[in-house]
Amino acid sequence: MTDSSALTIDGNALAAQLRGDVAQRTAALKTRGLTPGLAVVLVGENPASQVYVRNKVKACTDAGLHSVLEKYDATMTEAELLARVDALNNDPHIHGILVQLPLPAHIDANKVIEAISPAKDVDGFHVASAGALMVGQPGFWPCTPYGCMKMLESIGYDLRGKHAVVIGRSNIVGKPMAMMLLQQNATVTICHSATADLKAMTLQADVIVAAVGKRNVLTADMVKPGAVVIDVGMNRDDAGKLCGDVDFAGVSRVAGYITPVPGGVGPMTITMLLVNTLEAAERFAASHGLASV
Ligand code: NAP
Repeated sequence: MTDSSALTIDGNALAAQLRGDVAQRTAALKTRGLTPGLAVVLVGENPASQVYVRNKVKACTDAGLHSVLEKYDATMTEAELLARVDALNNDPHIHGILVQLPLPAHIDANKVIEAISPAKDVDGFHVASAGALMVGQPGFWPCTPYGCMKMLESIGYDLRGKHAVVIGRSNIVGKPMAMMLLQQNATVTICHSATADLKAMTLQADVIVAAVGKRNVLTADMVKPGAVVIDVGMNRDDAGKLCGDVDFAGVSRVAGYITPVPGGVGPMTITMLLVNTLEAAERFAASHGLASV
């Protein structure tokens, strides 16, 4: 028996459900002669990146998608990587391209991301994707904030007129998160390291998304009773266990809903990569006149 009052949004369960949908839509697309394909490119030996790319490729295969992992030495030049991206842009079996970050220091990551065709930018990091999100046009949404939106949708949460506070303003999480919340008619505040009084902001929030990368950025005294708390952070506690940015035990006693770490946003991120890749393949099918079944 616990004294926690918040309901947990189970990222594993939601991810499993959405991956089931992806598997079904993938099977339907295959009957039209098209197998959605994702290329994952890894340069160098970063151990965390090796785990991430393995998990991404496995998730694709499990859902019936075609996926290719291209691994290169850290000595690969920028020109060589750009040439690979160009080849993948022109490969009809590949509908999504993901270049795992970080790249070695001698390669300009922005240049590589901008070289990916926006039609295959399933990570949603290209400026064309960011621009499409900003102006509300179709494009690919970055997977982590997209997954957070799916978690809100899963509890039937209506964002209209609600105050959402996003802590963190990175290009891959905080900023796109704020845009997505705004698009759903929330009033959005973005906080960052220079925010003068974070607690004054979060106490007003109906929804809080913490995307900082520091333990205990959000504690119970900073949360309005009943608020929805989404924890994007991935940190290690003193025992070396994975934990988020939110003091889960304390905030659970105040919040209405909360996402755990692990088992929250993490599994949703990979799931949305599958969704984006499938979507890319479906758009390819539509633009190439493949008959629908
Ligand atoms: P990031 O690029 O380092 O951005 C962190 C943001 O937090 C920055 O905007 C920074 O402000 C802000 N910040 C730092 N200290 C703060 C403080 N004390 N109060 C308020 N804001 C503060 O990180 P990121 O890539 O967005 O990732 C954030 C976290 O999410 C990390 O733990 C990362 O590992 C995790 N993550 C998880 C997933 C997943 O799938 N679960 C995916 C992506 C990221 P400034 O801009 O002023 O520096």
